[in-house]
Amino acid sequence: MTSSVDSATELDVLVVGAGFSGLHLLHRLRGDGFSVRVVESAPEVGGTWYWNRYPGARCDVESVDYSYSWDDELQQEWDWTEKYPAQGDILAYLKHVADRFDLRKDIDFETTVAGAEWDAESARWTARTEDGRTYVAQYLLMAVGCLSVPKEVDLPGADRFSGQVLRTWNWPEDADLTGRSVCVVGTGSTGAQVVPALAEVVGDLTVVQRTPNFVIPTRNRPLADGELEAVKAEYPARRQRNASHPAGVFRSDNPKTAFEVDEGERHATFQERWEGGGINFLGSFSDLMFDQAANDAVCAFVHEKIEEIVDDPKVAELLKPDSYPLGAKRPVIATDYYETFNRDNVHLVDVRENPLESFTETGLALANGDQHEFDTLVLATGFDSFTGAFTKMDVRGRDGLQLREVWQAEGPKTSLGLSSDGFPNLLIVANAGSPSVLANMVAAIEQHVAWIADLLTHMRERGLRTIEAEPQAQEKWVAHVEEVANMTLWPNGDSGSWYRGANIAGKPQIFMPYAAGVVEYGNALQESVDNDYAGFVLA
Ligand code: FAD
Repeated sequence: MTSSVDSATELDVLVVGAGFSGLHLLHRLRGDGFSVRVVESAPEVGGTWYWNRYPGARCDVESVDYSYSWDDELQQEWDWTEKYPAQGDILAYLKHVADRFDLRKDIDFETTVAGAEWDAESARWTARTEDGRTYVAQYLLMAVGCLSVPKEVDLPGADRFSGQVLRTWNWPEDADLTGRSVCVVGTGSTGAQVVPALAEVVGDLTVVQRTPNFVIPTRNRPLADGELEAVKAEYPARRQRNASHPAGVFRSDNPKTAFEVDEGERHATFQERWEGGGINFLGSFSDLMFDQAANDAVCAFVHEKIEEIVDDPKVAELLKPDSYPLGAKRPVIATDYYETFNRDNVHLVDVRENPLESFTETGLALANGDQHEFDTLVLATGFDSFTGAFTKMDVRGRDGLQLREVWQAEGPKTSLGLSSDGFPNLLIVANAGSPSVLANMVAAIEQHVAWIADLLTHMRERGLRTIEAEPQAQEKWVAHVEEVANMTLWPNGDSGSWYRGANIAGKPQIFMPYAAGVVEYGNALQESVDNDYAGFVLA
């Protein structure tokens, strides 16, 4: 425990979470003259990149772009080594940021907020930690992450398994699976990264798949001589270019639609971008996420690739996603995923046709009676996305209104993704109702931190005490987020996507991230400011 805060300490701002969001908030708000403290469950900074230490963990945004832009010296001095950063590289970067800007002195690690209560008279939040301490602050800033709370394990009989169970979202640093017999459950972004990495070292690998994913090759590589220097020489211009793209990272999107070209050009375009690797593949044509036929064409191309790569036609068939458009679930970017199924030590177990009956003491049993034995179970089963970290806490706003109760009934309703009606001075960073996971998240976080910091200064200068979502604006914003999503193919098919909470039984189904991206979202933020913070009630 590193706390130096006693229970009587009054803060301007309490930040929950010390990932990209929390660290940036701390630096910016401290610099703006606010008293700020950060609390973080983990013993270290990093958020996502502290917790998710599984083999193969890597970011799908290029390293030179998945980094802060707010300090030129920082971006000039930090040396990335690979095109896409591995988990350890990002964690090292965030540790460096924490040290370089002396952030640690204002962070209480191993400190989890259990709940918080709003007091209208003093216009203050009192937050309680799991170990019984309290923090009193005018503003409660939720930098808690979209993907920071794992989905509860709902696998039949999972507790019967008597071997080692590892979770990708909290991977032990000393785990050594060399030669072991391992089963991985989950084939989302994490599963597709951990499977090829484990296949290299384990003796035997069983991969349990419920919904196949479209997996695009990363094509990671070391940065070439001079490449980083070239980026650094034009960093500000690069950041500006990134800010002009909805995804918060520049992609050379093809302006053509899929069917304005002939079949030969269409195939060649997909092929070129498949070979180039990464998220650029999604920019092959401008209508892939808007036109079903265009999406069918890109799906057919990926199916063709799966057939080409995977030796066993039966396995290839099982690996083909066929029930939702490419992109309706988060597109998976990984290295050698399909190739891994050609290895003798890797076996695919598809549980769509032949459901998982139950885990047993030594493995699992399928409905048709097949048994698979292993000594280590790896769970890559996803997150209680967006709302998980909020509903875990007991947050009580105006008149005792409980955030958990409201959000579990209606979903995360906010004005501009920043504030929820009934919860004054609680501001949310890069989560539901904003571009967040549909963008380079560091860019989305920077957009939010700048807006929040300007707001707090504005309020201080005018002697204002509270900000809260305006109820009608909130309804309008939630409807708008849904409407924008419905203009795309994102909501289509049975993807079971965590974008709309569909991966968790009973979770309200609303489309959570803002699909229009950071440019339109930035305009909406600016419009609010220009109209005296329209969408919010300031008092
Ligand atoms: P987080 O990094 O999630 O940090 C939130 C912190 O809040 C956590 O450390 C958590 O411990 C803490 N916290 C939560 N609740 C409490 C509480 N009650 N009390 C105290 N502390 C609390 N984004 C991309 O743009 N590109 C990618 O390729 C990409 N890959 C990803 C891969 C994985 C495996 C995961 C899980 C996420 C990925 N993301 C990616 C999203 C990633 O979460 C964001 O890019 C970014 O790291 C979010 O930063 P954050 O600070 O907002 O949240």
